[in-house]
Amino acid sequence: MRKVQNLSDPAVIKEILARHGFTFSKKLGQNFLINPSVCPRIAELGNARKGFGVIEIGPGIGVLTNELCKRAEKVVAIELDSRLLPILSETLSEHRNLRVINEDVLKVDLKRLIAEELGGLRVAICANLPYYITSPVVMKLLEERLPVETVTTMVQKEAADRLCAEVGTRDAGAVTVAVSFYSEAARLFDVPRTSFMPSPKVDSTVIQLKIREQTPAVADERQFFRLVRGMFTMRRKTAANAISGSLGIDKDTVLAALRAAGISPDARPEQLTMEELTRVSDILGQGSST
Ligand code: SAM
Repeated sequence: MRKVQNLSDPAVIKEILARHGFTFSKKLGQNFLINPSVCPRIAELGNARKGFGVIEIGPGIGVLTNELCKRAEKVVAIELDSRLLPILSETLSEHRNLRVINEDVLKVDLKRLIAEELGGLRVAICANLPYYITSPVVMKLLEERLPVETVTTMVQKEAADRLCAEVGTRDAGAVTVAVSFYSEAARLFDVPRTSFMPSPKVDSTVIQLKIREQTPAVADERQFFRLVRGMFTMRRKTAANAISGSLGIDKDTVLAALRAAGISPDARPEQLTMEELTRVSDILGQGSST
């Protein structure tokens, strides 16, 4: 058993990667952290502590995983690139509380994984997400209603703007509504592009989603999200035209629903608050069920 090396030291990373004949895959979003202060902060703020099991998405060569293993009761790391597995078993051989799973996070049954691997523990998710799948991963983590308390992850700065925007403001999109429906989102700290090897073309931000115990009241959740997604595909139009056009509902019916919900007929999709969105969804739902 070897002591964990300094996995944020570029010289150490280069030596390990060269020895294993590993080359970075751009396609898999492989930008490894080389700023030594970032991973301890993600681990501390991300609930890696006694009593918690942590799921990590995309461990790479294990720089964040190491900090998580030092603090949490148990860590399950999901890595798609099988070339990283022999590297991880070398770099993290010191830790007895780690399980690495070679899977695509988008295909894993996370509920089952949590029950099997982290039963009896409080659960947090931590990651430096590959940017090409930020939205689908975030949506999966939220929509599956996992027994998870927080999701703490690095994302592209622009993605952080969208994910953490307030519903009812210009930066909001369909994903903002979903994030805010299931969680309270906050930006934790920014990370410059120079903190990665290789350095990406964009800066990053670590965000945290605190999962709500109670989501906003809405009669039909699926219909609500159909409405939200439809509306935001036509965000330049008025909400009335966007809803009518995307969902194929007669414009007069939509206008009547907006009026009943106390919303101006000229409002744009991005101007509607969560309360107004749930109200419109419920009113339209009532109309279609009678
Ligand atoms: N955590 C490491 C760090 O901070 O240095 C690596 C982060 S790197 C941005 C993203 C990692 O996610 C890579 O190791 C990549 O191979 C992995 N990855 C990419 N797509 C994945 C997927 N669909 N499921 C699981 N892991 C994935």
